[in-house]
Amino acid sequence: MGQQPEAEPGWAVGIDAWLRGGGLVVTASDRAARALASAFHRARRAEGYTAWPAPNILDWKSFVHGAWEERTFDKGDGRLLLNPVQEQSLWAEIAGADGRLATLLEGPRHRLAGLAMEAHELLCSYAPRFLRPSSRIAWQQDAAAFSGWLAAFDETCRASNLLSTARLPLELISLLESEAARRPPLLLVGFDRILPVQRSLFDAWGAWQESVHGEPAGTLLFHEAADAQAELAACALWCSRQLAAHPRVRLLVVTEDASKRRSEIERAFLRHTGPASSPLFEFSLGVPLSQVALPHAAHLLLRWLSGPLAEHELDWLFSTGHAAANAQESAALQAHMRDLRRRSLQQPYWTFKAFIGQAPAKLLPGAWVERIIVAQRRLTEFAHRPSAAAGPLDWAELVPQLLDYIHFAAARPLSSAEFQAAHRWRQAVESCGSLGFDGRRIPWPDFLSVLARSLDETLFTPESRDAPIQITGPAESAGLAADAVWFLGASEDAWPAAGSTHPLLPPEVQRAAGMPHATPQLDWDLAHAITTRLLASSPEVHFSYAKQNEGVEARPSRLIEQLAGEAKELPPELKVPASPSPLTVPIEDLSRIPFPPGKVEGGADVLTNQSQCPFKAFATARLAAQGWEPAEAGLTPSQRGQLLHAVLHAVWGGSPEGIRTFAELQNLKEEDRSTFVAAHVRRALQQELRLHLRQRMPRRYLELEEQRLTKLVAEWLTYEATRIGFEVAETEVKHTVHISDLTLDLRLDRIDRLNDGSLLVIDYKSGDVSPKSWELPRPNDVQLPLYAAFAIDLDSEVLGGLVFAKVRAGNYEFAGFVGDARATLIKSLRGNRNLVKKPFSAELLLKWQDYIQQLAKDFLAGRAEVDPRNYPKTCERCGLHTLCRIRENQAQLEAEDESDGLTNPEAADE
Ligand code: SF4
Repeated sequence: MGQQPEAEPGWAVGIDAWLRGGGLVVTASDRAARALASAFHRARRAEGYTAWPAPNILDWKSFVHGAWEERTFDKGDGRLLLNPVQEQSLWAEIAGADGRLATLLEGPRHRLAGLAMEAHELLCSYAPRFLRPSSRIAWQQDAAAFSGWLAAFDETCRASNLLSTARLPLELISLLESEAARRPPLLLVGFDRILPVQRSLFDAWGAWQESVHGEPAGTLLFHEAADAQAELAACALWCSRQLAAHPRVRLLVVTEDASKRRSEIERAFLRHTGPASSPLFEFSLGVPLSQVALPHAAHLLLRWLSGPLAEHELDWLFSTGHAAANAQESAALQAHMRDLRRRSLQQPYWTFKAFIGQAPAKLLPGAWVERIIVAQRRLTEFAHRPSAAAGPLDWAELVPQLLDYIHFAAARPLSSAEFQAAHRWRQAVESCGSLGFDGRRIPWPDFLSVLARSLDETLFTPESRDAPIQITGPAESAGLAADAVWFLGASEDAWPAAGSTHPLLPPEVQRAAGMPHATPQLDWDLAHAITTRLLASSPEVHFSYAKQNEGVEARPSRLIEQLAGEAKELPPELKVPASPSPLTVPIEDLSRIPFPPGKVEGGADVLTNQSQCPFKAFATARLAAQGWEPAEAGLTPSQRGQLLHAVLHAVWGGSPEGIRTFAELQNLKEEDRSTFVAAHVRRALQQELRLHLRQRMPRRYLELEEQRLTKLVAEWLTYEATRIGFEVAETEVKHTVHISDLTLDLRLDRIDRLNDGSLLVIDYKSGDVSPKSWELPRPNDVQLPLYAAFAIDLDSEVLGGLVFAKVRAGNYEFAGFVGDARATLIKSLRGNRNLVKKPFSAELLLKWQDYIQQLAKDFLAGRAEVDPRNYPKTCERCGLHTLCRIRENQAQLEAEDESDGLTNPEAADE
């Protein structure tokens, strides 16, 4: 880049001179006004000044509002200027009164109200003559409905002395035309398109001119990247190089997708520009306030005072720390959540009462509980006070009090961005309070809904920290100048940006008035104006597009080709290698911390985990790390599994309630089996399902679950009735085993004595399992081999085999290894069944014994490598990836493998 950074382009010098002379500048947006003001102050500082008069810069809305107020303040216009919340509520009421299907529900009604506001504003800006009802007589269908709403809106405004902000420019034009006074000339900056109403207003004002574009960029390049990632990476790399070469350079990155791809863009820029004490880049586009942590947490807390929160919302709320008064309280709340899960008390929704009612609540900080109770009490008193029902303003005044009671966001000093977010939150609450302008009364839940909508619709942009790289959208870049610009996404489909016409206005009206997206030519003209302005805003401009976007072939933008010439492949220095540098730096850690010989909690899972991935065993058995099952409205798969085990344990538990032998099973007539099983199922549901679970599930749901389980177990018994004679030796029995120096407590589902006197180890499974998971080396599951090899006293007993009992509706079977399955298990087994083809053998048992011993030794030795036996399958249900960072490391390893031409032959295994 040959240009000296910080030298203002010619057009900017012209604006600066205008401002220095005290001239008034009107910008298209407040963002452009801020950028212009920053540039003005930078220039004065560069000139060595320490103080100077503020520049006279107003954005379009402030200009209109100020000029209107100036002219009506003394005369007492008397009308209330509606803010967006108030206006939308009026439109929603009018649309709701229409009684159309789409307006019956709150959500669609407010969406329609938003559309109606837009349509009204379009008419005000482009075709005010259609504000007269007589000009809309011929409008049909949806447009006719909107026309009716508009008439009702006008009538409401007239009757209640209200004024829509969209009408302000039209009102101002009349006022200006009735004045004889001379007004200062205006300089317009950043207007890519002057709307008809703007032009009329400026004409009524007096003298005005647009700032002239400077010389087009001397360096103009159009790049073609292989895909969107490569394009983004090239842009980020280019920015980092520009900064390295000229630390005071100012860069502008323009993209239509700035909101949609925000996180992706952030990652790419962080990767290439690296962390710095102050951020090197910032987005000039806002995000909805509902997506900003502090306002979102405040809204969740308010909701929790009077209703339930989803479990994941509560998790998130506690993780922010804003719900607590200090770090200890915050840690205690998170620990309480973990404790609830450990005790299997998770549930999809939590009211505050249910949350603190889960005894023992020893982990909950008493002061925190007390504060929430005080806030709840205050809310209840307020809602039930004997005087008139509360209005929005009353609720808005109550909100800060409630948050103060809770000590919201008091745990630590707020950052600058959080402080600004808190300020915007207060403004949003106040604007919801202003909904009481018509004297309405609303209940607390309705106020919370209005507040939620307001947070969704309010964009929040933290104050600019004047970062050297500004990332913005094409329209939003108006008024911004830079030393160099990069425009991302210049493909034929994306630029000019296409859009659709407004659904509530007749298309012919939109076309005639030149409203946005009414014709392709209008889109082209606007894109042309923006592109030309960008070309003149900097001495160096790069455009780029991706040849492949989400698997679809893309072509370069014709508009950019006309201005910048044919797209060329990215220069080699901007091609980023396929494997990005990882955020984590792998180091080979060969240190091992041995586990002291003795007992370890976790049973067979410890060695299964050691086989699946040594780190998993280390993290779960030694660090007590846990993945967790999210709560479900019904029973979770593991709760269903526990019930099944409990029922089968009771059925085979022997007298007085159960049976124990094949003969007893045969004595049970088929028609009596269901009744027999149903009694056990009922008892199991009573004993195994915690009271709170039974209470929160609908009775009908539990009845259906009872029927399902009864049928499942009865059918399983029918299958077992086809076996060769046997007797149940043990069920749900505990064994303590010692392997090397490791002691494990095991619980065996069932051990049967077969007709030849040998023992069969059985494990009930309701999921899809296969003995393939026991295959050496690195079995995916060692539970049954471990039972078979270590829990049976092989000095006094003979092992006949080990099997999964697959209790699955429509698919009842044994699967595993049995000495002679047709002689001891089921006579009718076909010869092609694995049970017959692959008999159990002593050699197999010995191999398992050796392997399991080695796993125990590895665990004791502290072997804890992150080494899943079959990535990514093994990791899918592990839940520890945030701890082991496998995803970051694996991405790097895969990229290396790819470049070496290696693939994972096991990928399809399991
Ligand atoms: S997620 Fe994968 S690599 Fe990480 S601990 Fe679990 S199994 Fe091991």
